[in-house]
Amino acid sequence: MLYEPGDAVVPFFVVVAGELEVVRLWAGTETLIATYGPGKFTGEVNSLSGRPAILRLRVSQPGEAIELDRQQMQALLQTDAELGEILVRAFILRRVELVAAGMGDVVLVGSTHSTGTLRIKEFLMRNGHPYSYIDLERDPDVQKLLESFHVASGEIPVVICRGQLVLRNPTNQEIADCLGFNQTVDQTQMRDVVVVGAGPAGLAAAVYGASEGLDVLVLETNAPGGQAGSSSRIENYLGFPTGITGQELADRAFTQAEKFGAQLLMAKGKRLWCDRKPNIVEVDNGARIPARAVVIATGAAYRRPQPFLLETGVPGVFAVGDVRGGSVKRVASAVGEGSIAISFVHQVLQE
Ligand SMILES: Cc1cc2nc3c(=O)[nH]c(=O)nc-3n(C[C@H](O)[C@H](O)[C@H](O)COP(=O)(O)OP(=O)(O)OC[C@H]3O[C@@H](n4cnc5c(N)ncnc54)[C@H](O)[C@@H]3O)c2cc1C
Repeated sequence: MLYEPGDAVVPFFVVVAGELEVVRLWAGTETLIATYGPGKFTGEVNSLSGRPAILRLRVSQPGEAIELDRQQMQALLQTDAELGEILVRAFILRRVELVAAGMGDVVLVGSTHSTGTLRIKEFLMRNGHPYSYIDLERDPDVQKLLESFHVASGEIPVVICRGQLVLRNPTNQEIADCLGFNQTVDQTQMRDVVVVGAGPAGLAAAVYGASEGLDVLVLETNAPGGQAGSSSRIENYLGFPTGITGQELADRAFTQAEKFGAQLLMAKGKRLWCDRKPNIVEVDNGARIPARAVVIATGAAYRRPQPFLLETGVPGVFAVGDVRGGSVKRVASAVGEGSIAISFVHQVLQE
């Protein structure tokens, strides 16, 4: 066995000889997802994000493989554009297939009449996490399943993580914790920039910042993509003449940010201490993250009165995208502002 669902260390393998199998585990049975022979490589988007493995990887025919850890693989992606394109494209497509087939480590038991079920479905879908859904009213075997996990039908929605942990009507944060979304993020490490909000503005700041060598941490309460992520089709975004769904734009931007080494923490930015250097961003779990600069990209949910262009009244603290008074409510302007803010961040860091 090379790794199991839930394992935090997920190396990347290129098969030289022999064969590897990717397998999904559920209720004591295995479903074969893919086999990789000589010349093929393993991995999907979790290989970039550092989140725990969703599936099992095992040797089906002994042989030889080249193994890279996540840092080595990330360095490869950043230095070899041709290989980077092949790998990132394959990782995205593999994840899209897993999501479409519901082949993951999570089962949601719910009802179409329950708002909690809809919320959890949206959370998993918008975070691109594959799950299978069992409906209380429609699935004939649902009672047997609930009994085996000691759950009453009145307790739905229920999330079963990796066939072991049962969460009854969990919050989004509880699901994120159970799936290990934050497991590999060091919440004490000093960052060059902490970006609060992972809508188009925040993701643009993350992509530009990380690609320009900054250590970037993005905070997000819900899912990458922000309002744009919920748009069924964005028709007016530069470079996409046939339009693009908000979800696809969000997934691509998020993967791009991770490729350059930006990290995402699923947490709410609660408080900003900017009366000292470094700034401190306090999140709702109580962690206080030191940050040399801060970009606020929290969208329409939180507005500052009379913000001063991209930098707020507090030096080193920026507001980009819909969070700004007078913002124009366009993906393109949010992306532009996120990237512009990073050029100012460079100046702040030189002060
Ligand atoms: C349904 C819909 C369709 C749209 N269609 C188009 C379109 O076709 N073309 C177009 O140009 N524009 C469109 N827009 C507008 C566009 O989506 C927004 O202008 C753009 O998303 C703004 O980006 P933003 O990053 O500033 O904010 P948002 O997209 O609002 O993102 C802010 C993010 O910050 C997070 N957040 C908030 N507070 C905190 C906190 N305290 N800590 C951590 N995270 C936090 C939120 O969860 C959110 O993910 C559409 C909007 C909607 C709702």
